[in-house]
Amino acid sequence: MATQRPEIDLRGKTALVTGASRGIGLAIARVLARCGADVIGIGTAISRNAQELARDFEGLAGRFTPMDCDLSDRDAIDRLLAALDADAAPIDILVNNAGIIRREEAATHSTQDWDAVMAVNLDAVFLLSRALGAKMLARGHGKIINTASVLSFQGGILVPGYAAAKGAVAQLTHALANEWAASGVNVNAVAPGYVATDVTSALQQDAQRTAALMARVPAGRWGEPEEIAWPVAFLASDMADFIHGAILPVDGGWLSR
Ligand code: NAP
Repeated sequence: MATQRPEIDLRGKTALVTGASRGIGLAIARVLARCGADVIGIGTAISRNAQELARDFEGLAGRFTPMDCDLSDRDAIDRLLAALDADAAPIDILVNNAGIIRREEAATHSTQDWDAVMAVNLDAVFLLSRALGAKMLARGHGKIINTASVLSFQGGILVPGYAAAKGAVAQLTHALANEWAASGVNVNAVAPGYVATDVTSALQQDAQRTAALMARVPAGRWGEPEEIAWPVAFLASDMADFIHGAILPVDGGWLSR
């Protein structure tokens, strides 16, 4: 007897995904659109690749709309929020995925890089969650999914700003969930391990580091962006209505080791 794979159903929902131009965010945007959501994808200059991206979304159930916003710029975030207000569709699902990393020894880590990492990886997560979360609270439903990291739990090496920001993202997820769970708004996070994207391309090309890293991953391999995207789609669906404040490791077992 043929078994039918149940699909996550996000039809009728509108999702905002930050960092949707490539990597994990693009995979999240595609999976949400496959599940039926209309997706607004944010990147610093994502509209420049609108035609190429349109091909990525061909044949999917949901529509994709790219919107430019430099999330390190608070005025740009205000303009984005104003543009979203002017648009008719309210945001049902917010995926705070955009992130940057700066590898530097703590003793010489520049203030500029510290500020840049905090602005994108933490401040923008709060500013978007505050504004769009308030509207979700007023409507009595909504899903916010943050992209934490295994470095929300560990300090990492040579990435003090990144680890600090990702630790804070996990705590912000808990704090918002505590306030908003009773009002029907779910705030959760995924915590990816080592995933094959631009961020990790230097590591992937370094055979020795890759071998050392993969020896420590119980699954023994790099994760694929889609493997982060499906858990996000689950957390965005009504299947996850009773999940609040969870930081879900999606790491091939890295944190269990
Ligand atoms: P990526 O391939 O480098 O993509 C980063 C995305 O963030 C891009 O779409 C980029 O858009 C966007 N972005 C960066 N700065 C921005 C800004 N100022 N304003 C707007 N958008 C901005 O990274 P990724 O590996 O997919 O990572 C996605 C998320 O997962 C990040 O939060 C990262 O920390 C987290 N993560 C990744 C891994 C991993 O192994 N890859 C592991 C743990 C956690 P533009 O290109 O348009 O600037």
